[in-house]
Amino acid sequence: MTAPRDTLERRDPHDCEICGSRRGFQAFRAKGLAADDPHFRVMRCPECGYGWTDPAPPDSEIGRWYPKEYYGRENVRFNPLFERMTRWFRRRRAREVSSRIPARGRVLDVGCGRGLILGTLKEWGFETHGVELSEESAWHAKHRMGAAMHVGNFVDAKLEPGTFDAIIFWHSLEHFRKPVAALLHAHQLLKPGGLLVVAVPNSDSMQARAFRADWFHLDVPRHYVHFGERALTSLLERAGFEIETATHFCFEQNPYGWLQSFYNAMELEWNLLYTILKNSSARMTPVRKHPWQAALTVALLPVFLPLAFLLTLVEAAFREGGTIEVYAFKE
Ligand SMILES: [Zn+2]
Repeated sequence: MTAPRDTLERRDPHDCEICGSRRGFQAFRAKGLAADDPHFRVMRCPECGYGWTDPAPPDSEIGRWYPKEYYGRENVRFNPLFERMTRWFRRRRAREVSSRIPARGRVLDVGCGRGLILGTLKEWGFETHGVELSEESAWHAKHRMGAAMHVGNFVDAKLEPGTFDAIIFWHSLEHFRKPVAALLHAHQLLKPGGLLVVAVPNSDSMQARAFRADWFHLDVPRHYVHFGERALTSLLERAGFEIETATHFCFEQNPYGWLQSFYNAMELEWNLLYTILKNSSARMTPVRKHPWQAALTVALLPVFLPLAFLLTLVEAAFREGGTIEVYAFKE
């Protein structure tokens, strides 16, 4: 009997995949999302700042951390007000992409979820493709947003090299066990001069350093790897991209990173506010199980919310935003 591929690929937990240093150390222990979770730790490279989750759950097991509720019924995750805001943010993102590539170009969104960015780009005349692991999300992206969909692993999808004007990894690269291979593959698929957009949580940010295991955007073990700006840009350059800009201000992601982390650090039920904001089909734990904590969460909002907005501006001014968004071109 042959050993499973995952076992064969296991490497020393101290080796950095980006810079080759062998001095990776345990930065901190993560908190399990469920009581029976194994004990994950977050490793960090002292040379380039890259981080990784150890042990990394193999492909055959990771599905357990993506229950049906993670996506929500018909892929609607939030209450109606937040849904509207989410759609508005996606349109803005689509504009950032469309303004940098030729009209009616070919766009690929890797880990496109329900395909909101692709839906907007399609309306504007672009040819849209998506890759998604979740069949239900892919169904929505295909039938509601009109994208050509490839269900399964990105590197296995049948896509023609050298044909895309833009490839987007919107908060998906950190879900790859092998981000280096994913970026090299993206490089092959792009036309010369093609655009690459990568947005990831910033593990060198003020909020990440302040909260460590309580940080909302850490999301272990769903996030296999953890990038700071230095690690991400050096990886992109190594994969053959030239960086145009890296932005540290993201109104959609960064204030919430502060806000939820305040509550997590108070040892309230994990991500309870996030649960309250979701619609009922996307809740992993029912809110009514924790009525007093829910009341305390709401009561503290007038204090925490302005603080979260203020800190988002401060961290962006120091280029230490909770998430980073990089625009780069294939050289
Ligand atoms: Zn390194």
